[in-house]
Amino acid sequence: MPDPTSPFGGFAIDFGTESAVAGGPAAAAVPAVDDPTSRSAQLLVLGSGPAGLTAAIYAARANLAPIVLGGHQPGGQLTITSGVENYPGFPDGIEGPELMARFRAQAERFGARVIDVEVDRVDFSSRPFRAWAAGVEYRGDAVIVATGASALWLGLESEERLRGRGVSACATCDGFFFRGKEIAVVGGGDTAMEEALYLTRFASKVHLLHRRAEFRASRIMETRAERNPQIQIHRNTAIDEVLGNASVTGLRLRDTLTDARTEMPVDGLFVAIGYRPNTGPFEGWLERDEAGYLAVHAETHSRIDGVFIAGDVHDHRYRQAVTAAGDGCRAAIDAERWLEEHQPAEAAVSATA
Ligand code: NAP
Repeated sequence: MPDPTSPFGGFAIDFGTESAVAGGPAAAAVPAVDDPTSRSAQLLVLGSGPAGLTAAIYAARANLAPIVLGGHQPGGQLTITSGVENYPGFPDGIEGPELMARFRAQAERFGARVIDVEVDRVDFSSRPFRAWAAGVEYRGDAVIVATGASALWLGLESEERLRGRGVSACATCDGFFFRGKEIAVVGGGDTAMEEALYLTRFASKVHLLHRRAEFRASRIMETRAERNPQIQIHRNTAIDEVLGNASVTGLRLRDTLTDARTEMPVDGLFVAIGYRPNTGPFEGWLERDEAGYLAVHAETHSRIDGVFIAGDVHDHRYRQAVTAAGDGCRAAIDAERWLEEHQPAEAAVSATA
């Protein structure tokens, strides 16, 4: 059972310190004297999901000694998912948090330095590029932006008020608290199916609420949910209000075809309606597409020479761990080649000396 109090659901190896782990030749490239206000690397990787950590593995093995700024959800979205059955190499499946703990251990083994801070802002006007997080300035001669996407919420006042008191977007984190209870999941995509199926491990009954008749989810996931006797599917159903004072006691529902209102008594609501790309710090620096995702030009290049983009922060088509990892690999190779062609203005490791 994953430990919900750990960023990696209890599967973490030991991420308590941010220093590079010895064991790879690149580890020695990290500055020996630590300046608390400024840190530099040849390559900064922003984000620690499959894209960021794969980029870190490749970059570390290329002796770039990358600094990875882990973001508000270290390990990315997989740390709040349940079993991953489609990541190659794990025929019996693997829990998302464990998979990400392994990514991270692999990156650190080769000398990547992963720091669990969230980037507030960046300055990409000149090299070294700069990013600020928790009061520290980080500099890199190249940057890979792999900040991923975050869960969306319905936007109801009652949903926000009861978040953490029965309303959640993370079945892996919070499912345990609903043992033997009746709960609801909202959404019609693969995430909703996956959450609903996972929650049947704990809940006595899971109501799957979707605002339309047709699901967006893959057929296999939809069929699994339909066939599960613990899941009751409610099509054409929207949530108008989450009911409860101290904790969730029910939902006020609306039939989207007839407008009929009903109440459903439940102890919890899991919101599984998709994601928003994490692009805030790059406003004004990097281009976005019509859907708000970062725009990639040639291969993994952004419009700023030396700044690369990988993973869900730009990909709203595939959005898979394996495609994000592949993207992180591409970005690291592009960054490495770019750095070779554009020798740093000054030795990266001595920039803060
Ligand atoms: P998604 O496919 O975009 O589906 C979001 C669902 O939430 C849609 O059914 C949408 O309804 C509904 N929704 C959105 N806003 C809503 C609102 N305000 N109120 C009520 N319902 C709302 O997102 P996802 O399920 O998170 O999946 C994202 C991507 O990740 C997909 O490509 C998916 O295949 C992939 N994924 C894969 C796996 C896996 O392979 N194991 C697991 C999870 C996700 P409408 O349909 O009416 O728009």
